[in-house]
Amino acid sequence: MQTLTMKFGGTSVGSPEAISNVAAIVGDALVPDNRVIVVVSAMSGVTDALLTSVREAASGNKWSYLSCAQKLRDRHEEAVNLLTSPGKDRDTVINEIGVLMKQHTELCQAVNILGEATPRILDAVVSFGERLSCRVVAAALRSHGVNAVACDATQFIVTDDRYGNASVQWADTEQRIREKLLPVLDSGIVPVITGFIGATRDGHATALGRGGSDYSGAIFAACSDSDELIIWTDVDGVMTTDPRIDRRARVLPYVSYQEVGELAFYGAKVLHPKTVQPILNRKIPLRVRNTFNPQHQGTLIGPNGQRSETVIKAVTSVRNVSLLTVSGKGMIGVPGIAGRTFLATAKMGGNILMISQASSEQNFCFVVLDDRAGEAKAAIEAELAAEIARQDVDGVEVLGDVAIVTTVGAGMQGTPGVAGRIFTVMGDNNVNVVAIAQGASECSISFVVDEDNLQKAVIALHDLALKAVAV
Ligand code: ASP
Ligand code: MG
Repeated sequence: MQTLTMKFGGTSVGSPEAISNVAAIVGDALVPDNRVIVVVSAMSGVTDALLTSVREAASGNKWSYLSCAQKLRDRHEEAVNLLTSPGKDRDTVINEIGVLMKQHTELCQAVNILGEATPRILDAVVSFGERLSCRVVAAALRSHGVNAVACDATQFIVTDDRYGNASVQWADTEQRIREKLLPVLDSGIVPVITGFIGATRDGHATALGRGGSDYSGAIFAACSDSDELIIWTDVDGVMTTDPRIDRRARVLPYVSYQEVGELAFYGAKVLHPKTVQPILNRKIPLRVRNTFNPQHQGTLIGPNGQRSETVIKAVTSVRNVSLLTVSGKGMIGVPGIAGRTFLATAKMGGNILMISQASSEQNFCFVVLDDRAGEAKAAIEAELAAEIARQDVDGVEVLGDVAIVTTVGAGMQGTPGVAGRIFTVMGDNNVNVVAIAQGASECSISFVVDEDNLQKAVIALHDLALKAVAV
C-alpha cells in the first residue's frame, strides 16, 4: 500500500479547466491500495485579492471589499457549476461558499469600523482563499467519482501565534494528523485539505507565510509517513536557471534536498524554502510536476547529493537587495560586533541573505532586501553608537542596485577549482564581483554583483550548468 500526498498550487486550481486536470490526476493515482492526501492552494490571485480587501476595509473603502467578495463568490460558484452536475452536492457546496464569503464580509466590516486590521484578522481573512478552493476541488473530485471530503487544516496543524508566519508545533500536529486524518484515509476517503493555514491551540487561524502551501504539503506528507510528496505546479520541474533570464533553461531530473533548499532560498520560485524541512529526516521523496503537462516526469528531489560532471547544476539570482558593510579599524579582535549587528538586524525584522567577512576583520558585509536596508542601517548604528563615537567603527555603508548570484551543485566545496572557474568566468565576462560567500551546506557559492551585470553573470554561469545536464 502506498500513501501519496499531492499538493496543487494556485494556477493548478486556478480555473475550472485546471481543476478538471487535478481531478484526472488524482483519479489516476487512486489505483487499488493507494491512499491519496490532497493539499490545495487558493485559486491563483485570490490570496492577494483577500489581502487587498482587508487593507482597503481598514482604510475605509467599503466598496472595494464588497466588490472583492462578490467577485470571489462568482468565481468559485462558476467553477462549481462547471465542474459538478445539478443536485444536492452542488447546492451544499454553493451554500458553503456563500457562508464563507458572508464571514469574509463581516470580518471586513469589523475592520472597516475599527479602521485597522490586526495580524490575527489578516490571517483569518486570508484563510478564506484555501477554504474556498478546497471545497470546490473536493466537489470536482466527487463528480469525477472520487470519494473526497474538504477539510480545513486548522483542525490538524497546530501553530504558535506569530500571525502571518506561524511556526508549527510538531508534536501536537503529528498527533492530530495521526488521530484525525489517518482514519479518514483508512476508510477510503480522499481528504482535500487547505494549504497555507493552521491554527493556534485556541483555534485562531494562522498563515504559514506566503507560498506556504508547499510547506503544508510537506507537513502532511511527513506526519502521515507518505511514500512520496508530489508538488503539482505550472512548470515541468526545477530548472537549471530562470527561463526568463536564459531561455536555454532545462528541467533537472534530480536534485537533492540540500540543493533545492539553496535554490529556493536564493530566488528559484518553484518551492517554498521550508518545504524540505519536514521531510528531510524521514527521507520522503519529493517530486515537482506540471499539472498542465502530466506526461512529464518532473524533477525528483531526494536525500542523496549526486555530483554531476561539472559540479554546478543550477544558477539562481535575487534582485532588489542591498549590501551593508560595517567597517572600522577598531573592530580587529573585538568580539561581539558582528553578533550585535546581526541581532540588531534581526530585531527590526531584516532577513539576512548572505554574509561575508575578509580575514583582516576590518570589515564585514551582508545582504538584506532593499526595503529593509535603510532601517537596518539605522538599527545597527544605534546598536553600535558607542563604538562609532569612539571611532572604533566607522559606520554602516549601504550599497543598493546589487544582486546575489548563486551557483548550486552537490560537492561544490569539496571540489578544488570550482570557485576558481566561477570567478574566472566572471572575469572573462567583465563582471565585477563585490562580495563572496560559500554556503555552509557545501553545495552553493553565492556572490554579489551590480544589478546591471546580473543577466550577463547568470547566462555565463548557466553555460557551465547546461554542460552538466547534457552528461
Ligand atoms: N495562497 C497562498 C499564497 O498565495 C499560499 C500558497 O499558494 O502557497 O501565498
Ligand atoms: Mg507556490
